[in-house]
Amino acid sequence: MQYDLVIKNGTVIDGSGMPRYRADVGVRRGKIVTIGRIREPAREVIDAEGQVVAPGFVDGHTHMDAQIFWDPIGTSSCYHGITTAVMGNCGFTLAPCAASDKHLVVRNLQRAEDIPPAAMEAGIKWNWTTYPEYLAALEALPKGINYASYVGHSAIRTFVMGERAFEATATEDDLQAMQRQVRDAICAGAIGFTSSRSPSHETPEGRAVASRNATWDEVRRLVGVMGELNAGLFEIAGEGVDRNAGDPGVREWHTRLRDLALESGRPITFGVFGRRGSPGTWKKYLDLLDETAAMGGRMFAQAHSRSLSALLSFKTQMPFDHLPLWKDIRALPIDEQKRRLRDPELRPRLIEASGAQDGRKPLGTEARLADYDWLFVFDTVEGPHRSVAEVARERQQHPAEAMIELALEKDLDLFFLQPVANEDQDVALQIMRHPRTVTTFSDSGAHVSQLMDSSLQTHLLYHWVRTKQAFTLERAVSMLTLAPATLWGFHDRGLIREGMAADIVVFDPDTIMAEMPEVVDDLPAGARRLVQRTRGVAATVVNGEILLREGRHTGALPGRLLRGPLAQST
Ligand SMILES: [Zn+2]
Repeated sequence: MQYDLVIKNGTVIDGSGMPRYRADVGVRRGKIVTIGRIREPAREVIDAEGQVVAPGFVDGHTHMDAQIFWDPIGTSSCYHGITTAVMGNCGFTLAPCAASDKHLVVRNLQRAEDIPPAAMEAGIKWNWTTYPEYLAALEALPKGINYASYVGHSAIRTFVMGERAFEATATEDDLQAMQRQVRDAICAGAIGFTSSRSPSHETPEGRAVASRNATWDEVRRLVGVMGELNAGLFEIAGEGVDRNAGDPGVREWHTRLRDLALESGRPITFGVFGRRGSPGTWKKYLDLLDETAAMGGRMFAQAHSRSLSALLSFKTQMPFDHLPLWKDIRALPIDEQKRRLRDPELRPRLIEASGAQDGRKPLGTEARLADYDWLFVFDTVEGPHRSVAEVARERQQHPAEAMIELALEKDLDLFFLQPVANEDQDVALQIMRHPRTVTTFSDSGAHVSQLMDSSLQTHLLYHWVRTKQAFTLERAVSMLTLAPATLWGFHDRGLIREGMAADIVVFDPDTIMAEMPEVVDDLPAGARRLVQRTRGVAATVVNGEILLREGRHTGALPGRLLRGPLAQST
């Protein structure tokens, strides 16, 4: 047989969780066709001696919806072994929506997910109204990795109700129109329906995003459409009941989720994180997964491999940005800021002002006011990271002054980490270990100047496998491949096996590691974002073509739109 690609001499970790073995992997027409000793010629050969050959990683929680239009390879996810990304989470999709109403949909995404509106305006060619038209637009885009998309509640509600979506209860006519939209989307290939009831999700004007104005009954009616079709998952950013210790609303919320899983028969999924403000609530979520399963419903939670942290720097956001005096300084060009931060007259005034209140209610990964025991100097990827409080004590300085000086020493190229959830790593590990969770939730494409969670998959491999030995490499690979591919319904991905799509990552388990993030201004309209690369990944293969070699894009764009089961069967 003539092969398109042969990956030779590698150690296959096939995604099933079973032990590794040595073999060559032969690829033809986008599929894995042979696993064994391959002697025949190939158009391309990757020598994987000393490397692991694993299925490409699947990320079930991204917000690449806007980014896919200007960044076909899906940075930074593609650098971390991701070959398939699920977008449209938390109710936010760009369809259904007419071009003339796009400001309404963009409003839902802009603050909740920190995607710059100027980038969206300049970068997206809006040539659809309906969801099926939108999928056709995605199909036509050049893509480096595979993408699948949900249909979002906020988009559907805005499409049907217009401005009323942001304040009113839906009428029976509205409900039926929304149900039709869910049906059309699922039949065209949306892989499910998503919504948000999260207090983190506001518009720039401080109003609730459209889906948060829905009654629970509306949510049930829309998920019920998927029940009738017997297709699709339901993803939801949950109510704020997990934020306060002992919130009596937790049980009531959990009962609603459980009952919805039972009545619809569709899988329900959401993120679960430990929270410093409500210790132990995460455990109730894990119990809910077991309880629902025992009663005959399907539900799985999305876990994160480390703390969710806002990434701060003077080149992006700092805790002081909205404080009096600071606000004016932070609005200046960066060189001017450096001069002011060094100014001996101004410095003490800035330090004094650092203790003020700004009256804001930061959302998601927006910087919080400084709590210096929970603010860490992010000077290496793997850490340990020392708190600003500790460093300041050692330097006998005010913590704000220590932050200024440390940053100036690095020409302001210094990051600080501000954990906003999953602070306790023992808790993070227990959530990941629960059999009904899947490690995902990078949020890639969102929070583009605030977060670096595209690396959560590689973090699992270098931190939890190599450093902590909390998982075998076989188990960790399975957690990133077969588990999400199965849960999201990508039946021909997530395994190294004959007949499967050739999405493959070749990496060195001894050196794989995220690099330090960088601040770049490469978004459309010059908007800013963080990029984080990886070392130790020799090659990433998508549908049989090499997308990246040693972290560099080969120019190939082999990614596909993966449609849901109803579209596949027609
Ligand atoms: Zn999300």
